[in-house]
Amino acid sequence: MKRPTILLNPGPVTLTERVRQALVREDICHREPEFVALLADVRARLARVYAAADEGYEAVIVSGSGTCAVEAMLSSFAPGDGKTLVVANGVYGERMATMLTVAGKEPVLVRAEWLDEMNLREVERVLEGDASISHVALVHNETTSGRLNDLAPFGALCKRLGRALLIDAVSSFGAEELSFADWNVAAVAATANKCLHGAPGISFVLARRDELETGASRAGSLYLDLFRYHAQQVTGSSPFTSAVHVLAALDEALIELEEAGGVEQRRARYQTLAERVRTSLDELGIPTLIDRGSLSSMISSFRLPDGCTYAELHDALRERGFVIYAGQGALSDSMFRIANMGDITDGDVDRLIAAFRELLGR
Ligand SMILES: *Cc1c(COP(=O)(O)O)cnc(C)c1O
Repeated sequence: MKRPTILLNPGPVTLTERVRQALVREDICHREPEFVALLADVRARLARVYAAADEGYEAVIVSGSGTCAVEAMLSSFAPGDGKTLVVANGVYGERMATMLTVAGKEPVLVRAEWLDEMNLREVERVLEGDASISHVALVHNETTSGRLNDLAPFGALCKRLGRALLIDAVSSFGAEELSFADWNVAAVAATANKCLHGAPGISFVLARRDELETGASRAGSLYLDLFRYHAQQVTGSSPFTSAVHVLAALDEALIELEEAGGVEQRRARYQTLAERVRTSLDELGIPTLIDRGSLSSMISSFRLPDGCTYAELHDALRERGFVIYAGQGALSDSMFRIANMGDITDGDVDRLIAAFRELLGR
C-alpha cells in the first residue's frame, strides 16, 4: 500500500487510519448527550494514561494547541501575589516565562543554554532564599534540543521545600515517565497531537482535583480559566464550543494507546525507532546534537552535515515522502530534527535511511 507523506516533525503526527476515520464519523453538538458521553470518556482515559494520576488528578480539556494548555495552566495556577520560578533550557521554557510576563505575573527565571541541562544548583539556591516562590514551572521534554529533562531531582526538591510543580509535558505525555506523587505535581499540560497520536486542536491539563474543587483561580483571562472549564466539564458540559471532531479522534487515539499496552509500550516502540535512526545517521557521519543518552524517545536532534543547508536537506527528503524539522533560533542553521511519533512503520524508517544514504552518496 502506498504510504502517505510521513511527518517527522514534532507534531502534528501522521495519523493512523483508525484515528483519521474518527474525525469524519459524525457531526455532534456540544450540548447533546453524545458529546456528554464523549467528553466523559476522553477525560477518564486521559486521567488514567498514568495510573498514578488517576486518583488525585482531573483532566481539563481546552480547544487549542499545546501552547493553549500551557498558558491556561500558568494563567489558572501561577499566583499573582506570590512568585513562580521558571526553569528554562530551550524555547518552551523561555516561552513559559514570557507567558507569565504577558499576564503581569513577573517570573523568576533560571535559564540555561539551549543545549545544556537545567540548572539544579541554582534552582535550589533561589528557592531556599525566597519563600514567596510558591510554584516552579519547567519543561519535561525540551523539544528545542530533544533533551528529556531529568525532573526527578527538581520534583524531589519541590516536595522537600513544599513548592508546587507545573510541567509542560506537551511533547512527553503518553510516552515518557511522569511521577505525579513524588514530584509534588500541581498540574501537567499536554496535547492531543504529539505522543498521544491524535489530531491537532485539542489540548488539556491534568490538575489536582482538590485544587480545582476548593482552590481559587488566578486567571486574569476568561477563556484560559481552567476552573471555569472544570466546573462545567464534570457535569459533561463545556463552557464554549469544543473541537468535537478532534475530540472524537483523541478518544480513538487513547483507545488505540490502551490496546497497544500504554505508555511503557509506546516508549519502547519510540526507542526502537529512534535508536535505528540515530545509529544509521551516525554511521553516515551525522552525529546527534547532544549526547544520545540525554535525548527523549520521541525526537532526535542532529548536526547538519557539512556542505548542506537545512533547506536542501528538507526539500530532498520532502521529495522522497518525509517532512523533517528545522532547528529554532540561533540553532536554525546548524541542526535539524527527526521525531518518530505517529503511525510510522519499520518500512518507513528503512526508506528514510535509504534516502539519507542516497542524498549523501554513501
Ligand atoms: C510542541 C510543544 C509546545 C507547543 O505546542 P503547540 O501545539 O505548537 O502550541 C509546547 N511545549 C513543548 C515542549 C512542545 O514540544
